[in-house]
Amino acid sequence: MKTVQTALSSAAILEYLHSRPRPQRWADWARGRRRLITRFGDRTHPLLVVAHSFRDARTARQLSLAVEQDWLEAPQRSRDAYDEVLFKASGLIVLQLRRDNVCGCLGHRHPIVREAPFAEPHEVFAGARTGEMDIAWRRVAAWQPLPLTDTALDARFLEGSRLNEFHQKQFRLKLLSIILHETNHLTYPDAPEAEIRDRSLAFYHEALASYVENAVATLSLTIDRSFSRLG
Ligand SMILES: [Zn+2]
Repeated sequence: MKTVQTALSSAAILEYLHSRPRPQRWADWARGRRRLITRFGDRTHPLLVVAHSFRDARTARQLSLAVEQDWLEAPQRSRDAYDEVLFKASGLIVLQLRRDNVCGCLGHRHPIVREAPFAEPHEVFAGARTGEMDIAWRRVAAWQPLPLTDTALDARFLEGSRLNEFHQKQFRLKLLSIILHETNHLTYPDAPEAEIRDRSLAFYHEALASYVENAVATLSLTIDRSFSRLG
């Protein structure tokens, strides 16, 4: 099978969404349907369309921050583990952002794309394959992937705004690791769950540990400076 590696432009996809018949656009708008386009900070492929309700606009922005920025800040070797997965991924992936889902899973991949504007092939996709997943963000927020490690990391930030910053980062890294996990499933449908889970948990753990390491380093630097000012 030939891998289609067409870099879709977000401008072209936005243009396409705006060019749909007015009744369709109005119906989407009226039921609070919004779409945000994002991509991994250092990659043009794949393009991610975050489909969400206007009530979840803030979470959609956090998700795009995770993909664009937190991804770049993750250690190089952690990103390298996904090099092939992302290279071979569908050119356009729809992320259905939900609050909860009935089954209690954090996310799923969908064998067929359900999001209306992307369910049928269109010339604007330039032959790129499409894929879809859903993410239940409240479940993600409550999920403790590595309880002991998280608690240990948490303790260093117990004071003030640092703790809040840490929790925001932690939430975004959980979202990011789930996106990577489901993208891995979409790209390699036959790969065993254990292998895919190990890879995404390793990514989460390494990215979080590296963030904490850097944050603690800047923190002690600040303390050193204030001590030297006293001296
Ligand atoms: Zn899985």
